[in-house]
Amino acid sequence: MTGRPPRTRIAVVGAGMAAARFAERYRALGGTADVTLYGAEPRAPYNRVLLADVLTGRYDAEAIALPLGGARLRPGCEVVAVDPAARTLTLAGGRTEPWDALVLATGANPVLPPIRGVRRPDGTGLRDGVHALRTLADCARLTEEAAAARRAVVVGGGVLGVSTARALAALGLAVEIVHQGPHLVERQLDEWAAAALRTGLRGLGVESYLGNRARAVREGVPGSAHPMAVELADGYRLTTDLTVLACGVRPRTGLAHAAGLAVRTGITVDDTLAASAPGTYAIGDCAEHRGTVHGLAGPAWEQADVLAARLSGADPEARYRGSRPLARLTAGPLEYAAFGEAHAEDDPGAHPGLDIVRLTDATRGSYKKLVLRGERLVGAILVGDLATVGELTRAYERDDRQPDPPLHLLSPYASHAPPASASASVSASVSVSVSVSQGALR
Ligand SMILES: Cc1cc2nc3c(=O)[nH]c(=O)nc-3n(C[C@H](O)[C@H](O)[C@H](O)COP(=O)(O)OP(=O)(O)OC[C@H]3O[C@@H](n4cnc5c(N)ncnc54)[C@H](O)[C@@H]3O)c2cc1C
Repeated sequence: MTGRPPRTRIAVVGAGMAAARFAERYRALGGTADVTLYGAEPRAPYNRVLLADVLTGRYDAEAIALPLGGARLRPGCEVVAVDPAARTLTLAGGRTEPWDALVLATGANPVLPPIRGVRRPDGTGLRDGVHALRTLADCARLTEEAAAARRAVVVGGGVLGVSTARALAALGLAVEIVHQGPHLVERQLDEWAAAALRTGLRGLGVESYLGNRARAVREGVPGSAHPMAVELADGYRLTTDLTVLACGVRPRTGLAHAAGLAVRTGITVDDTLAASAPGTYAIGDCAEHRGTVHGLAGPAWEQADVLAARLSGADPEARYRGSRPLARLTAGPLEYAAFGEAHAEDDPGAHPGLDIVRLTDATRGSYKKLVLRGERLVGAILVGDLATVGELTRAYERDDRQPDPPLHLLSPYASHAPPASASASVSASVSVSVSVSQGALR
């Protein structure tokens, strides 16, 4: 008598955002294999993007849990080795388990910058009062300390640094951001948008020190009410009760590297999300596709969707061809979104064929920029007023031809065409100005 063939086993290492999305989509698409998620964190997967909202108390930890589509979850279960030839993995306790397909979704670790005094003297971790924010456990520690604090310094003014600073300000702390770059969130925003953001942050109690490097964390000066000070490269000291490091992330690739899989910055994958050994895949912040490590939730989910479609059999030919950059920060009173070729400057030599339309509303503290190539929207930035973000992203994703001119996408206040002349600049009201650059809207 022959028994039923054993069910295929899919092992997913990491139980974060990409892993949860994969598990949920795999089941929704009719996948029948046994899917097991091994997670080093002692809890079910959650929406990490909302950690700043957990910090402010807007959500509790349970509210940000993610569905798993019935996959088996092994929380608190760190995988310490994988063997692609034997198709096994080893858990921290020494136990070995088999798999038929292995999905690495190990995410990323915060980068700890080379700042003197951020680590404990024995090097075992961050010193008291210094934090990183990547997990709910980090968030709980920070929440506890913030409750007794009056001042905070955030090192790093990117997406994560700004959202953390804003959350701490919402808790009533006076916050200072130290940022090495020339302006805030420079990977996503241009200098005008960043200036609007900086002004908005100032209104919330967040001051920013730009073009400045933190070089040391020291004891507070004697007599100060605050136990520590962040010393800048120019010697200036910011006294503080706590310091948060938000200096970017690095893909977690140690497991893949030790297993002999190809790793550059991330675990290298092709358009099928396959890593370099048969039966192995990588998705999310740990994966590098066509030279890019995204480090954002949107691409992590798009990769998970493609892999789920392939492995479930719903679409064995599905391919991941990259993600269009879209960053959006929405919680709290200060919002921004940026996507596509949002960085194109008005320099026609640097970006031939691009037209740029800007609308600045000083009263509402908003800034909007559309980047057009011919009749097509190829990028945009919105700060302070995201009323048109849905329409804009749809136009961008559908690659629609825009009516001439597409100012309805900027604001209901700007539904009439400005003069379509090069470098025209008009004042639509006392506080609203529209500028159209370099032969825009020809
Ligand atoms: C505070 C914060 C705010 C953010 N805001 C935004 C935002 O506004 N927009 C945006 O697009 N993105 C944002 N991100 C980034 C986004 O959260 C990540 O891109 C996303 O979480 C990536 O998903 P992932 O599954 O690849 O990694 P993760 O969600 O980090 O999950 C990886 C999991 O794998 C586990 N793991 C690692 N190694 C092992 C192992 N050997 N064994 C078992 N488990 C292991 C880790 O413990 C972790 O739980 C933010 C991130 C943070 C921290």
